[in-house]
Amino acid sequence: MMKKYDVIIIGGGHAGCEAAAASARVGAKTALITNKIDTIGALSCNPAMGGIGKGHLVREIDALDGIIGRISDLSGIHFQVLNKRKGPAVQGPRAQIDRELYAINMKEELNKSPGLEIIEGSVEDFILSDLNTICGVICEGGAKISANQTVLTTGTFLNGVIHCGKKTTPGGRVGEPPSKGISKTLKKFGLALGRLKTGTPARLYSSSIDYNSLEIQNGDKVPETFSYLSGKNNNKQLPCYITRTTEETHKIIEKNILKSAIKNGNISGVGPRYCPSIEDKIERFSDKNSHQIFLEPEGLSSALVYPNGISTSLPEKVQDEFIRTIPGLERVEIEKYDYAIEYDYIDPRELNHCLGLKKTRGLWLAGQINGTTGYEEAAAQGLVAGANAALKSLNKERLVLDRADGYIGVLIDDLVVKGVSEPYRMFTSRSEYRLSLRADNADERLTDIGIEAGIVKKERKDIWLKKKKDLFNLRKKLKSLKISPNEAKKRGLNINLDGKKRSAFELLSYPEVKYDDLNKFWDDIKSLSPQIEKTISAEALYDRYLVRQQLDIERFRKDEKKRINPNINYKKINGLSNENKEKLMKAKPETLGHAQRIDGITPAAIGLIISHIKNNKGV
Ligand code: FAD
Repeated sequence: MMKKYDVIIIGGGHAGCEAAAASARVGAKTALITNKIDTIGALSCNPAMGGIGKGHLVREIDALDGIIGRISDLSGIHFQVLNKRKGPAVQGPRAQIDRELYAINMKEELNKSPGLEIIEGSVEDFILSDLNTICGVICEGGAKISANQTVLTTGTFLNGVIHCGKKTTPGGRVGEPPSKGISKTLKKFGLALGRLKTGTPARLYSSSIDYNSLEIQNGDKVPETFSYLSGKNNNKQLPCYITRTTEETHKIIEKNILKSAIKNGNISGVGPRYCPSIEDKIERFSDKNSHQIFLEPEGLSSALVYPNGISTSLPEKVQDEFIRTIPGLERVEIEKYDYAIEYDYIDPRELNHCLGLKKTRGLWLAGQINGTTGYEEAAAQGLVAGANAALKSLNKERLVLDRADGYIGVLIDDLVVKGVSEPYRMFTSRSEYRLSLRADNADERLTDIGIEAGIVKKERKDIWLKKKKDLFNLRKKLKSLKISPNEAKKRGLNINLDGKKRSAFELLSYPEVKYDDLNKFWDDIKSLSPQIEKTISAEALYDRYLVRQQLDIERFRKDEKKRINPNINYKKINGLSNENKEKLMKAKPETLGHAQRIDGITPAAIGLIISHIKNNKGV
């Protein structure tokens, strides 16, 4: 008997874990099939989660009851909010993670998810019910498993090739074979595939590093965890250290640059511009004679350190030589050398905003396979794809997040509308609404949406509903408490003596006024949770801009609501250029807003589409 599930998730990486958990939360009978159960939750590259933009994503996933934030909290060994000197909109929570703990905690979380079964196996192909509909998978050895919906999250494994100098080996990650069968079938579906690359630095033995001369970087005194739930963390906290490349390092790399797999023509895939290899950095920023390197611990009981900033695809001999010219690393012992990996990705413009394929029914894609890089980007897509696969399988309303809902919406919209030309990573600058999309208010933006979609469990729902009430009451109160400029001055706050009373909320917009300071002016300001105080203070700071941004958001949503029939024949629209017709036929925009964001589609073209829809009843 062939086993049957509502949803199959292929791959137990960051996208796969989040997709499996989301699908199970929706209530679908879910199977997570992955190569090796042991590697579930593996952090293939740096032992860290979050950061600017990425930390926002983790909070948003958490707000939708996803798991990455809670698992990171449980496994964190160094928490730091980045960009603290800048405004709250661009501050990002980040944590160093104990790799081993992360994998253990992730497996435990998935094992206790009701309705989720984990199966060890390598998926080789799909079962088709017709030319364009997938209804299950075929594993290595021939076992067949059927499902209404399948989510593919195979990361860097599709036709993966590992490079180290001239040496190339097939692999999905070091020590793991690539996945070949799936790529072939995806090509048969007529999907556009491309090639990208990424790299990971050597791992160093901590005991061989001389930390004495290095700058120490401790985590924040009061660790700010990710999750809106418990934020539990009882782990010992470890420091990171900072060192730099030297002129000698640069000389060695320059001398050997043609031996790098990126330069010698072995690698054709494009790498992440924002996470370049050391040879790339030395070439691109030739005026700099030094680059910073963060030495990050890999875990509480790990003997290893991750040198963040020196990924390379130079041969091992050159790595041996240049690494030892870096202060603190003069006598370092290397556990594993750097390597780069090249892999197939699917052009994400093949997907709709739920991350389902447009051409093929029953298949959803999430993670690095869609041209992104990073655990957080993968997990965010996993949540959306997993939830939507489950919702579809149970005939429920789909979950779509737009650009004003959060960075998850920005990520998906960027991918499916613009596609990628290099591995995509999240930055706050990618959002036009970033003052509204802060890491502190992700629950306010998303938890109700998650409740509506059925992916938020009772514990979070109760906590959120109470917090929502507290936020509402506090805002009302702070806006009602007023003080005159003279009174404020008497209590030490120098504000313009214009006779206009200021509310407690307005006072919070003064950089010198912190939430606790309000007690100087009023007796009954209660101390609430640091989370609530942070959100209210950020809102007060940005108040004027947020009002304007809300108007922009309303305008944007008006066009997002104008749906376009997917069967519209753009070839019939007189006046549209052939190039635009082709672009629109390929993109099949779901809304007028989506059509506007397609590269090269002008306001005049949009005008033609609107009048065509009016005159032809939608098609
Ligand atoms: P992965 O985490 O790779 O998970 C894929 C999962 O699919 C694995 O569990 C695998 O076993 C499983 N799988 C694959 N094929 C099959 C199959 N046929 N059947 C069943 N299971 C299968 N990110 C950064 O942000 N910055 C970096 O600098 C960076 N460098 C990286 C360097 C390397 C060498 C690698 C490998 C990754 C790097 N990453 C980096 C990327 C980061 O690891 C990924 O972005 C992230 O893990 C992607 O998550 P994912 O879930 O899409 O894929």
